[in-house]
Amino acid sequence: MHRFLLIGLLFTFSTANGQIEEVRRITETLCSPEFHGRGYVNKGDSIAAAFLSSEFHKIGVAPYKDSYSQSFELNVNTFPAKMELLQDGVKLIPGIHFVVDPSSGPSPDYHRAKSFEPYLITGTDLLDEEIFVAKMTEMSQIGSTTIIFDLTDVSGDTLRQLSSIPASFAKDIPVMQIVDKKFTWSVGREQLKYPLVYIQDSIVNRSGTFDMHIDAEFIESYKTQNIIAYIPAKKKCSKTVVFTAHYDHLGRMGTNTYFPGANDNASGTAMLLTMANYFKENSAEFNIMFIAFAGEEAGLVGSKYFVEHPPIPLKKIKFLVNLDIMGSGEEGVTVVNATLFEKQFKLLEEINQEKALLAKVKRRGPAANSDHYWFTEKGVPAFFIYTMGPNKHYHDVFDKYSELSFNEYDDITTLLIEFVKRLK
Ligand SMILES: [Zn+2]
Repeated sequence: MHRFLLIGLLFTFSTANGQIEEVRRITETLCSPEFHGRGYVNKGDSIAAAFLSSEFHKIGVAPYKDSYSQSFELNVNTFPAKMELLQDGVKLIPGIHFVVDPSSGPSPDYHRAKSFEPYLITGTDLLDEEIFVAKMTEMSQIGSTTIIFDLTDVSGDTLRQLSSIPASFAKDIPVMQIVDKKFTWSVGREQLKYPLVYIQDSIVNRSGTFDMHIDAEFIESYKTQNIIAYIPAKKKCSKTVVFTAHYDHLGRMGTNTYFPGANDNASGTAMLLTMANYFKENSAEFNIMFIAFAGEEAGLVGSKYFVEHPPIPLKKIKFLVNLDIMGSGEEGVTVVNATLFEKQFKLLEEINQEKALLAKVKRRGPAANSDHYWFTEKGVPAFFIYTMGPNKHYHDVFDKYSELSFNEYDDITTLLIEFVKRLK
């Protein structure tokens, strides 16, 4: 009796640990420098796609068609090489002291050749036309080649009104902007003619001398791919439950800086594989499709392509669950579209209570903030679930593997598995 109990306990521990070890391996691999932040420099996205295909293959989950890949193209701005900004002769750190705008252009030759003193324009200056004109005149008299905007003197609606001005100037001259908030980087799908560089308020010398060397390369029709895998239902069934997670992230910003995208969304990608692993062993009443989307950070491009070229009729999707930011959960999860699908949301709440899983399953209305969006637009019933917790790193260089707690990973997978089992 005792012996069996002990064996039972050992088995429970080893499977739970086995799962989290596997999840850690996958997440750490996706976040490693060899994957280049799963962006477009050095084809980080395609390296990640090949890795995911091999992981699906390894657990015995086949593609839906002949191949796991659903290819599409997008235009994208990239920063493959130099990313240098010196202030008064001191090198600033990319990602920490400064970032380029995702649509920044490369630095012009005259910047690369010698130091420059940017001309300072504040928010207050922009609000007064007379002052602004006087400043512009002075700037051209001095022969200054670069503007440094300081909009930290305005806030709220005023700041919002002025916020597009730096980018509009970067069509004509190099621009810097002082920022007093955390950097939140992204992916650009166009390229400004000149650099647009954001520098932290805490380190900037407003009357300093700068050196800049930034390489930017705009790639037209870059080829990337969604990865699609599929498990047929136990008994033949026309309906499919779909799990999705984007695997792309922001990629590299110069030779030495990349954005690992651990929480966003190596964590959700790992969960996709965890679910595939489970349903491979325990086939469900419905077919199950797994989609690892590309191009999410560039503006939900991969999911848009999918709904426009669906390999299965969208009408046959019983329910779709999009997983993005799955690495924490100490404060529970939020469910986007909860207000649209009350019955299914109640089911989530019910399972959560019954099994005492998460601190909170929070209701949220529709939002265009991840890949579920295009499906919702097409009338496919869908949730987007994300974790909440103390890890606030988002679209910055600190969203690293080492910051993930995986605190509620097992509980979330339990919630999802039960959800599929009880879906009517
Ligand atoms: Zn994301």
